[in-house]
Amino acid sequence: MAENKKVLVIGGGMSGLTAAIETAEAGLDAVIVEKNPYLGGRVAQINKYFWKLCPPNCGLEIQFKRIKNNPQIKFYTLAEVEEIKGEEGNFDVTVKLNPRYVNDNCVGCDACAQACPSFRDNEFNFGMDKTKAAYLPFSQAFPFKYVIDSKSCTKDCMKPCLEACKYNAIDVNMKPETISLKVGAVVLATGWNPYDKSKLDILGSGQIKNVITNMMLERLASSDGPTNGKIVRPSDGKEAKNIAFVQCAGSRDENHLQYCSYICCLASLKHAMYVREQYPDSKVQIFYIDIRTPGLYENRFYWKIKDDPNVIFTKGKVAKITEEAGTKDVTVEVEDIFKGSKIKATFDMVVLATGMDLTTKESKVGTNISYTPDGLVDDSALKKGIYAVGTLKSPADVARSVQDATGAAIKCIQSVNRR
Ligand SMILES: Cc1cc2nc3c(=O)[nH]c(=O)nc-3n(C[C@H](O)[C@H](O)[C@H](O)COP(=O)(O)OP(=O)(O)OC[C@H]3O[C@@H](n4cnc5c(N)ncnc54)[C@H](O)[C@@H]3O)c2cc1C
Repeated sequence: MAENKKVLVIGGGMSGLTAAIETAEAGLDAVIVEKNPYLGGRVAQINKYFWKLCPPNCGLEIQFKRIKNNPQIKFYTLAEVEEIKGEEGNFDVTVKLNPRYVNDNCVGCDACAQACPSFRDNEFNFGMDKTKAAYLPFSQAFPFKYVIDSKSCTKDCMKPCLEACKYNAIDVNMKPETISLKVGAVVLATGWNPYDKSKLDILGSGQIKNVITNMMLERLASSDGPTNGKIVRPSDGKEAKNIAFVQCAGSRDENHLQYCSYICCLASLKHAMYVREQYPDSKVQIFYIDIRTPGLYENRFYWKIKDDPNVIFTKGKVAKITEEAGTKDVTVEVEDIFKGSKIKATFDMVVLATGMDLTTKESKVGTNISYTPDGLVDDSALKKGIYAVGTLKSPADVARSVQDATGAAIKCIQSVNRR
């Protein structure tokens, strides 16, 4: 197949995986460039996904199987696009491949991690625990290969890993590489980051230990997370049975994200379920401006949780969060709109329903991209042959991201066939 009949997909989350798979299953070659050492994106960090509340690995497994079974899909991890030149049907792309220091001989036996003397913050768990510098990103990682974080290695520190590995899988001489690709169309699928809680000054600026984000709660509730699934407070490991959720933490706010992040209400409702299931004697209070559960989520999800008398919904924008000295409990101040009075309530832990912030602005692929006034990628201003998908255009759940990515695959096929 001619090189420029290929489709490049930047980002290997649910949107990017879908775009690549649909393109390849229609007969074209697809290449995924993913900056993490694994595929799956943010979905890999989620404990259960709405609305069925099954583990996201079920959905990801299916995608990974389709990739393994399709020789027309190639993927690079630890890779980032440096430059895209050219036009529809004929793009020249420069990709930087960062070294993994572990080659394809790796069988995932963990011997390197056991021998490794250095530790690093585990970003997969938002820094709530540590891994060795030689680590598997998470228990179901695809590719199932260890990676060595050279920044966390002390001098000669790869030596014990090298000696411990029976499979010749450690390669201390790996260097960054640059490769060139010729492709006919490009899909931007770099997804989102949780909104930075340090920017939320009235909500504690990320300084209060027992104020965590919704994505941190996903990791706390996950059986392969930092606490093996126990929902406990970061400050002292105490069971968190009295929890507040603060909605629109950064979203629908002209000083932060101007848009509604679409999934935060659904995520907090799901999180209320995690807490209530784990601790039958727990209490949850959700502080909201408006509860938004679009479409079928309303009856399949919201109504079910509303029936629980131990989940209290309070309409009001939180004005202040403070830490109690000594106990490290967290006090929330809010005006209860329906009662017309101010509330000051104290909780074991507070979860900020932080919204979705776009990733394109921080990456090099973002240099030629226009943004709408509300900060999303302006799809209509993209060069012909380049398509943005999923959460780049509008915050979305997995179902909407996957539908959008399937549409983008069709647009790519049309693009390369036009030439
Ligand atoms: C708390 C919370 C809970 C949620 N729960 C659910 C749920 O239960 N059900 C549901 O349907 N949805 C849920 N969502 C939404 C879901 O996470 C998104 O719909 C989904 O992540 C969108 O996938 P994506 O591929 O567009 O983006 P992402 O998952 O962000 O994937 C983007 C990928 O691109 C990569 N990337 C970024 N920049 C670059 C670059 N420059 N070069 C190469 N690669 C790059 C990233 O590393 C990542 O792998 C939840 C969201 C939140 C905040």
